[in-house]
Amino acid sequence: MAKFESLTFDNGFSRLPETYYSRVCPTPVPDPYLVCYSPEALALLDLDEGEMTRPELIETLAGNQLLPGMDTIAALYAGHQFGHYVPQLGDGRAILLGEVKNAAGEGWEVQLKGAGRTPYSRGGDGRAVLRSSIREFLCSEAMHALGIPTTRALCIVGSDRPVYREDQETAALVTRLAPSFVRFGSFEVFYYRNQVEPIKHLADYVIARYYPELTALADPYPEFLRQVALRTAELMAQWQAVGFSHGVMNTDNMSILGLTLDYGPFAFLDAFDPGFICNHSDTGGRYAFDQQPDVAAWNITKLAQALVPLMSVETASQAISEYPQAFGRAYLERMAAKFGLPPGGETASLHPQGAGRGCRDTEVSTTMLIMDALQLLAQNHVDYTIFLRRLGDFDSRPETANTLLRDLFLDRAAFDAWAARYTAALRQLNSIDAERGASMRAVNPKYILRNHLAEIAIRRAADERDYSEVNRLHALLTRPFDEQPQYEAYAAEPPDWARKIEVSCSS
Ligand code: AMP
Ligand code: MG
Repeated sequence: MAKFESLTFDNGFSRLPETYYSRVCPTPVPDPYLVCYSPEALALLDLDEGEMTRPELIETLAGNQLLPGMDTIAALYAGHQFGHYVPQLGDGRAILLGEVKNAAGEGWEVQLKGAGRTPYSRGGDGRAVLRSSIREFLCSEAMHALGIPTTRALCIVGSDRPVYREDQETAALVTRLAPSFVRFGSFEVFYYRNQVEPIKHLADYVIARYYPELTALADPYPEFLRQVALRTAELMAQWQAVGFSHGVMNTDNMSILGLTLDYGPFAFLDAFDPGFICNHSDTGGRYAFDQQPDVAAWNITKLAQALVPLMSVETASQAISEYPQAFGRAYLERMAAKFGLPPGGETASLHPQGAGRGCRDTEVSTTMLIMDALQLLAQNHVDYTIFLRRLGDFDSRPETANTLLRDLFLDRAAFDAWAARYTAALRQLNSIDAERGASMRAVNPKYILRNHLAEIAIRRAADERDYSEVNRLHALLTRPFDEQPQYEAYAAEPPDWARKIEVSCSS
């Protein structure tokens, strides 16, 4: 474990030509203080937890002082925002401090989000408010604990410097970590400027560092594109399976590594609602929950287009052609596991006695069982996370009512009909309740970052300077699959007041 002064910086991105970024220093904030930190993220940098008590480190992560070896830059990128190309975005408030090489040989880029204006700030103030920083910090670390690829969050440093949004708020900086923050939009910017060389050079850099196995190929670019598409398919499967809605799936928020990136107005589903729109500003529902896999596919075509200077149009479309199947397969595999059913395969007849008689109307597939359950959840406004967690306690013995689960549904008869089919499928599979339950509890989280939980933590932090709730939530969400009986209330449905919470891009 190291002291932060002895961190080794090896800044790959800022060794690239200045075409890709602007050199810029963070703008200091007055009297920074530590709000919270993630011990797990700290360990990625080999830093001792005691380091977080040192004012020098807080000053550094507030952007007030730099360490030797840091080379601070804001990256250039463009992107399609809500379907429209915006030729210049870039890190408008995030500043890359450098890339730390840890003892395991991993490179972690360290970035301050909310570090002040950059050449890409456009009309913005370069700042982030405490409220949105808490949401990003908690969700990054919660997603990681759920096993979902994401950028990480090391800590939040706050300052009483005022920041003006709808109301006056205070500033905060999230220290984010990722192997790379390169986005689809990092390539698009050069495509639309008709600059082929920077596209090639950036692709070479990303391939060499993050897809090294492709360097052996004579022509690595199509395979690179294919792998980005496949990683994105996997990520979408994970979002859909856990019920995560990103809210702003613009191409500048799509990671070239398939990571969840840029937490803004995101939300986890409470009641299952396929058309759920978490972003208050998304009036057309472009980024509604059930649109996400298709939006990702659309975004991938924009990446493919940006890479067309490196390959033919046919090759590019071929490279991304597996996305739909890859998504479908990954999603169904995850959903099957969440329902305690075997992956993929069609389950045999639900009435074994009918199987040999070609009783086709009694044959259903795992997929149908799952899709029908989702439809029932939507019709009955049943909480997605609670349903799946309780399904892990499903009792498949005859005559059992599974009351706790059944009580989630208004339409009990419809639930009973589904439960009968589920029971039949389980019996057909010789599924053992206790074993299935244990494996389901390992994939169906009990605790997710519900909007109202974040809201309570934010209010305490903002109104009372009390960060204990942020810390409690963080600790709770790092073990989302474990029963934590003292926190039972954190697994409950949102209270009525939570309906009024609105989140938008103004963060
Ligand atoms: P987002 O959709 O939140 O990821 O941000 C879209 C673009 O707006 C990015 O280029 C951000 O850097 C920029 N941006 C967002 N908020 C601010 C801000 N307060 N100041 C400057 N730039 C910002
Ligand atoms: Mg963004």
